Amino acid sequence: MDHTASETIYRQLGISEEILKFGRKTEKELEARFLEFDQTAEYNQLKVLHAMQENRVNEGCFQYASGYGYNDQGRDTLEAVYASAFHTEAALVRPQITCGTHALALALSANLRPGDELVSPVGKPYDTLEEVIGIRPSRGSLAEYGITYRQVELLDNGYFDYPAIEQVLTDKTRLVTIQRSKGYQTRPSYSVAEIGELISFIKARRPDVICMVDNCYGEFVERLEPSDVGADLVVGSLIKNPGGGLAPIGGYIVGKESLIENCACRLTSPGLGREVGASLGVMQSFYQGFFLAPVVVCSALKGAVFAANIYEKLGYPVVPGGGEDRHDIIQAVTLGSAEGVIAFCKGIQAAAPVDSYVSPEPWAMPGYDSDVIMAAGAFVQGSSIELSADGPIKPPYAVYFQGGLTWHHARFGILKSLQSMVDAGAISMEKIRSLL
Ligand SMILES: *Cc1c(COP(=O)(O)O)cnc(C)c1O
Repeated sequence: MDHTASETIYRQLGISEEILKFGRKTEKELEARFLEFDQTAEYNQLKVLHAMQENRVNEGCFQYASGYGYNDQGRDTLEAVYASAFHTEAALVRPQITCGTHALALALSANLRPGDELVSPVGKPYDTLEEVIGIRPSRGSLAEYGITYRQVELLDNGYFDYPAIEQVLTDKTRLVTIQRSKGYQTRPSYSVAEIGELISFIKARRPDVICMVDNCYGEFVERLEPSDVGADLVVGSLIKNPGGGLAPIGGYIVGKESLIENCACRLTSPGLGREVGASLGVMQSFYQGFFLAPVVVCSALKGAVFAANIYEKLGYPVVPGGGEDRHDIIQAVTLGSAEGVIAFCKGIQAAAPVDSYVSPEPWAMPGYDSDVIMAAGAFVQGSSIELSADGPIKPPYAVYFQGGLTWHHARFGILKSLQSMVDAGAISMEKIRSLL
């Protein structure tokens, strides 16, 4: 194959010959993995297409709707498409749901009542949920409304402590929340099959308990979704996987009809429910993003596995490991030094289509107990299905890397991160040559 033109353009974009070679060699070794990802994307692409055809998506669905949004056909049809794709009775997919945390807070507050108990059988939930639940006292938390919370810590190996889960389920337990992706923790992300086992265990003991899954970063990574293995509610953000990089805002909740109706009545108003909430012209991006999402997620997965293998070969601890199965699109790399984290993130930023000339610096961020550096040159602010990385400046000096709307861009970003680390002296070129 003639790589000459590509080599020239890589050189123009600042990637040295050795790094490009190292990348090509690593990629070659990943052919079988990539084929698996392509096959999952093929299946999920057809699943989404089928859902769109089944619900007769048409040009009228993209029309602008304003005001109350009664009979907003685009919105109602999109919700039917999501319900079909996730194999659920109903869906709520709205630009009025502002982010993933909002979608989760909505699903919880809509389906819990004073005196109910919420249980997390998978340890501590995602940071932002701590204030939603009231683990950290917060204005408007579930705790303020008399909803109690208990969590079951994970076993040392990161998996479920079934005897302890059995004990925590009581007559008060109304809803169990299960987070699929590890977020910023060191535990594993769970496969849909593992989530299914956990749900079966809970349902065998308490059939009436609502099982909810925080599906953020997990959509389309596998052929099945948590709703295929017994989840009553599945929740996520449209500026992550299912928005396909095109949705400019939004969240979704899919699941049982009555539970979704509770969510709608909480999002809008009792009595109004799903009937109101105009889609304000974002529908085309929601549909098109959902249509592209299986392939975008596939690109992000290839990028994650490529990064894992590149950095693993260089001797850095990576989670998940280069050869491990994937259950979400997040890749953690422990670089071991502040300089390493900063150089990595500067490389990712320099690879971006937007704001590539900006140099990110570590900064004190609300909600974090150390400075954090964030690299993101995204079309949609904060979108983490787009190539992005962030790292707290504290031991063990790990970066969390995710996204990539196209595989070619994800690959370039990772090579650029490596180039940046070499240029900063955090990795020697000798080390890379020794691996060629
Ligand atoms: C991103 C994320 C959230 C919160 O979503 P935001 O859109 O950032 O509010 C919740 N849970 C998990 C596992 C996430 O990855």
